[in-house]
Amino acid sequence: MTWGTLMSRAHGMCEFCGGMDDCLPVEVDGVGEILLCAICESDPPAEHWRCLETAAQSEHPEVQVAVWRKLAEIGEPWAEDLRGRMRLAPETQALL
Ligand SMILES: [Zn+2]
Repeated sequence: MTWGTLMSRAHGMCEFCGGMDDCLPVEVDGVGEILLCAICESDPPAEHWRCLETAAQSEHPEVQVAVWRKLAEIGEPWAEDLRGRMRLAPETQALL
């Protein structure tokens, strides 16, 4: 995916939190690329990841997979709960 395609898909905003500061493409292993801001890339406190409640509703498989994997890393009860509530297409589940 080109930079322009990614930027237009993401509307120039972080695909996790919607932030607009220093957004850069980040590789999602085996799936593709997503656009993430400097905060999401910097290992922020767990509370920051509440933004994933919105990101989890993304229609893009790359974002869905990245959110799923991030929620698994967070290890908080709410993150596990949200992960359990994500509805993923079978072809997306195959990528997790
Ligand atoms: Zn962000």
